[in-house]
Amino acid sequence: MNEKPKLLIIGAGVAGLSAGIYAQMNGFDTTIYEMHSIPGGLCTAWQRRGYTFDGAIRYLTEVHPEVKGYQLWEELGILNHTEMHFYDEFVCIEGRDGRKLHIYTNIDRLEEHLLELAPQDAALIHDFIEGIRDFTQLDLPVDITAADAREFAQMGRGMLPVLLPTIRWRNVTLDEFADRFTDPLLREGMHHFFQFSPKDFPMMLCLSTLGMMHDHEAGYPIGGSLPIAKSLESRYLDLGGEVIYRSRVSDIIVEDDHGTGLELESGEIVRGDMIISAADGRMTIFDFLDGKYTNEKINRIYQGGMTPSKSILQISLGVAMDFSNHPPMINFPLAEPVWLGNIRHDRLTLKHYCFDPNMAPEGKSVLTIWCEADFDYWRWLRGDLSRYRDHKDEVAEVVINILDQRYPGFRDALEVVDVATPMTYERYTGNWRGAFAGWALTTRKMSMMMGIGMDKTLPGLSGFYMIGQWVEPGGNVALSCASGRDVIRDICREREREFVTKSDA
Ligand SMILES: Cc1cc2nc3c(=O)[nH]c(=O)nc-3n(C[C@H](O)[C@H](O)[C@H](O)COP(=O)(O)OP(=O)(O)OC[C@H]3O[C@@H](n4cnc5c(N)ncnc54)[C@H](O)[C@@H]3O)c2cc1C
Repeated sequence: MNEKPKLLIIGAGVAGLSAGIYAQMNGFDTTIYEMHSIPGGLCTAWQRRGYTFDGAIRYLTEVHPEVKGYQLWEELGILNHTEMHFYDEFVCIEGRDGRKLHIYTNIDRLEEHLLELAPQDAALIHDFIEGIRDFTQLDLPVDITAADAREFAQMGRGMLPVLLPTIRWRNVTLDEFADRFTDPLLREGMHHFFQFSPKDFPMMLCLSTLGMMHDHEAGYPIGGSLPIAKSLESRYLDLGGEVIYRSRVSDIIVEDDHGTGLELESGEIVRGDMIISAADGRMTIFDFLDGKYTNEKINRIYQGGMTPSKSILQISLGVAMDFSNHPPMINFPLAEPVWLGNIRHDRLTLKHYCFDPNMAPEGKSVLTIWCEADFDYWRWLRGDLSRYRDHKDEVAEVVINILDQRYPGFRDALEVVDVATPMTYERYTGNWRGAFAGWALTTRKMSMMMGIGMDKTLPGLSGFYMIGQWVEPGGNVALSCASGRDVIRDICREREREFVTKSDA
C-alpha cells in the first residue's frame, strides 16, 4: 500500500515545480498537471529560425552565494552550473535634448555620472545614492513568510540594518521622487527607469534592486529563462516526481470542505490527499472553486483592492547586426508618438541579449521591445484570427520602421519577427488578462512583503494551498520558487513532520 500522502499540483511554472521538489524531498508522492507541453509557465523562451526569444528573466535575484536567499537555489540545486551575467548598466534613458542618463549598477560610477549631468540636483542625487547604499544591507532569509515567532524574529533581525531606510522611504513613490529633480533628463528618466511600474510604485524597490545589482545579488542567468525552468523540472523528475503535460485542470474536487481531487478538461478525475494550485489566482478561487471559499479580504483584493501587473506586448526581432556595443536596455523618445494596438507610445524600451551567446548566431542579435497593451482590445482582435494576425504584423511594422530610422540598414538585416500579445500570455499560461507578474507592488501593499504575506490557504477549505505570483505580490521567479518552499514547510509543520530541504538524489 502506498503510504505517502498524495499531493496534486496544478501548474508546472517555477512555483509548482519548486513545491514539487520540496514535497518530493519531504516524502510526498506528487504529480503536477500542466496544460502546456513544456515546463516554466511565464519563465519561458521560444525559438525561431536560429534565434531564441526570451519571455521573462532580465535579472534573477538572490544569486550571490553569500546572501541568505541563495539557500533557495542551493536547495533547489539549479544554479550550480549556471554562469551569471551582471549588468554594468541597468538601463540607458535618452532625453529629448540628446543627453543620455546611464543607470550604472556600480553605485560610485552612477553617482559620478548623475553629478556630471545635474550638479544642481546634488542633494537629491546624494539621497538617491545613499538610499541604494543603505539597501545593499538588506539580506532576508529564504522564508518569505514567518511560520512561527522564532522565524518572525529572524526576519526582523534581517530587516534591522535597513529599518531606518525602510521607515524613511516606505511612502515615497518612484513618480514623486522623480518629480523632485530639477534637471529635465533626470526627472523624465527616473519616471522611465523601472518599466511597467504602477503609479504608486515604491521607490524603495528601485533602491533595493539597484543595491542588489551593485552587489551582484541580481544578475542574468546565461541561457535565460527556459533553462532555469528545465533545471527545476529535471531536479523534480530526479526526485521521483511526475509531470503530466497537455493536461488542463478544469475543477478542484472538494468533499466535506477538503480538497480531494482534480477534474481534468478531458473529463478524467484524479484523487489526492491535498491540492496545491500554482495557477492563476482568480481562476483557482472563482472558477475551480466557484468562489465558495472566500471572505471579504479576498473579494476585495480580486475586485480591485490590489493592482494586477500590466498586460504587455513583446515584439521580438532577430537581426543580422551586432548590438553588443549598445547598452543592454535603452529607453528612447520617439520623434512622433506611435500607436501600438490602441495605446499611444511616445517612448520605447529596447533590449538586446548580446551578452548571452545562446540567444543568436554569432555576430547577430536578439532585440525585444516590451510595451504596455490593452487586453480587451487584443481579445477583441482575436475574435477574428486574420484581423488579429494583421494587427500583430502592423505593430511589428511600426517598431521595425522606428528601428530602421534609428539604426540604418536595420530592415535589410532583419531575419525574424515575432509578436506576443496579452492573448498569447493568457493562452499559454492562464494568467488573468495576460498579467506578467501577478500583483504589482505599490507603496500601500509593501507590508505584504514584510513578513505578513498573502494567505496561501482559503477560509473554510482544508487540504488546499495556493502558491506562486498571485500570492507573492511583486511576483518574480525567486519569490514564486520561495512560495512553493514556504507551503511545503507549512504542510510539514501541520503534519508535525520535520521539514527537509536536502536529498541524496
Ligand atoms: C515579460 C516578463 C518579464 C519578467 N521579468 C522577470 C525578471 O526579470 N525576473 C524575475 O525574477 N521574474 C520576471 N518575470 C516574472 C516571472 O517570470 C514570473 O513571476 C514567474 O515565472 C511566475 O511563476 P509562477 O509559477 O508563479 O506562475 P506561472 O509562470 O504563471 O505558472 C503557472 C503555470 O500553471 C499552468 N496552468 C495555468 N492554468 C492551468 C490549468 N487550468 N491546468 C493546468 N495548468 C495550468 C500554466 O500553464 C503555467 O505553467 C517576468 C515575466 C514576464 C512575462
